[in-house]
Amino acid sequence: MNKTVKKIGLILIAIIILPAAFFTINELTSLSENEKVIEKIYSDQLEAILFSVNQYSEDVASSWAIKIDDLLDELAKVDEIQSGRMVDSLFNDLPSLQGFFVADSILDEKIDFFLFGELEYNKNADYDTLNTAIKNLLKENSQVVTRLFTYKRAGYRKIEPVNYEIKNQNSVLMFIDATPSGTNKITGILINPNEFIYRILSPKIQEIAEMEFVISVFNRDRNFQYNSTKDYDSTKVQQERPLWIFPNYKVGISLVGSTIEDLVKDRVVSNIILISLLTLILIAGVYIVYRNVKREVEIAQIKSDFISNVSHELRTPLSLISMFAETLEMGRAKTEEKKREYYSIISREANRLGRIVNTILNFSKMEAGKRKYHFEENDLNIVIAKVFENYSFHLKNIGFDFNYYPSENLPSINIDEEAVSEAVINLIDNAVKYSPDKKQIEIKTGIDNTFAYVDVMDKGIGISHEDQRNVFDKFFRVSSALVHDTKGTGLGLSIVKYVMDAHGGKVRLRSKVGAGSSFKLMFPVINRKN
Ligand code: ADP
Repeated sequence: MNKTVKKIGLILIAIIILPAAFFTINELTSLSENEKVIEKIYSDQLEAILFSVNQYSEDVASSWAIKIDDLLDELAKVDEIQSGRMVDSLFNDLPSLQGFFVADSILDEKIDFFLFGELEYNKNADYDTLNTAIKNLLKENSQVVTRLFTYKRAGYRKIEPVNYEIKNQNSVLMFIDATPSGTNKITGILINPNEFIYRILSPKIQEIAEMEFVISVFNRDRNFQYNSTKDYDSTKVQQERPLWIFPNYKVGISLVGSTIEDLVKDRVVSNIILISLLTLILIAGVYIVYRNVKREVEIAQIKSDFISNVSHELRTPLSLISMFAETLEMGRAKTEEKKREYYSIISREANRLGRIVNTILNFSKMEAGKRKYHFEENDLNIVIAKVFENYSFHLKNIGFDFNYYPSENLPSINIDEEAVSEAVINLIDNAVKYSPDKKQIEIKTGIDNTFAYVDVMDKGIGISHEDQRNVFDKFFRVSSALVHDTKGTGLGLSIVKYVMDAHGGKVRLRSKVGAGSSFKLMFPVINRKN
């Protein structure tokens, strides 16, 4: 039976748990892959936003380069007063533009400057300082200048920031400007980055960020920072990139509220919880199915055992009866003594048959709730004494030390004499069957709190702790070799239990393997109404 149950367990695991486990593992792995994809999409989106901020600032710088380019062309055609006005108006149009310069080449000794009115460089004394600064700048960035010339020759006006900050922290952007006469000149734009970020970039950043992101622009030392959301700390940005036109500055972005990692983590955690919950429910379901199947298999097994036990029990007395009846019929029993022996065997076996049939009928009546009880005030000592006397001779004959110790002062109790006798006979029968070696049976009556009891004790094989829970179940028989060889239906103790339930009493079983058993039938000492 164990093999069948194990097989069913394995099949259940194979068809339900394994696929579920594969599914769960697959879900969990694809989950993290999905999350990675989502994270990548988010990160690409943030990257795209940073790119657009950069693109915008470069577009602005390019448009300024075009304006300066055009202005320089115009300036060649007008007088000094007019050119002064045009330059001023350019500075007015382009906030944060601090000035621009034009040099013929990196070796140019006298560079032309156009500076925003308030700059100190206006004074002649400062011209030399500025001239030297730009000359150094050009020399240090000669490679950039060469590259810009190459672009120009290819037809592009490329703007490049140079890694240099001159007085007042102005950043320099350079491009090559073609004059109307056809010569190419190096043109530089001086921009105040902080002002550029506040006045030019911030409206655009606000527009892009809306309420979903915080976009920050900050310099390397973080002594300047602009954030699209007030009171934001730019050190918390999730992704950052250099600002193309001002290499000392960076633009960063983060999500408002939880970070992408938080969102992804939340999703992963809730998905894992959900899947684990489903798996648990599945396991619980499989366990319940397994338990029910196991129970069904056990019942099927118990029933088939019962049928074979009962058939065996019936066949033995029947074959003995028919054999001895035939012998007598054929006149083969020669002496009177032999005849008497055969008659007594036939009568004994007929009794045994009757008892088995009675047990089965009794049990089925009890199980169907159709057994009628006749309760009467009775002396338990006397009821048990009758049973003892009936059995005493037979038991002593088969070698049992059989004793009865009635208790004094036992109050009379309300019982069905026939049913109680039957229960005690079942217990004596069992004590006989399961005491192969030490043949000692003791019956005691007594009082225990509010219960009057009769205790049937043997020194037989005993019952293991595990089996004690089951012996009162119908058809149950302990699966030991001795019990297997002993005849029985597995109904005796179930009947005892039914009888005790009908009396509102209980059975207390105490037993130890190899030492013996005690079955104590306990009847409540209260007046019972019929
Ligand atoms: P059975 O017809 O098999 O005796 P019972 O319902 O009377 O059926 O008993 C159930 C099982 O309990 C028995 O098969 C036996 O294994 C165990 N059992 C009952 N009484 C005793 C006892 N006195 N000593 C040892 N085992 C017992």
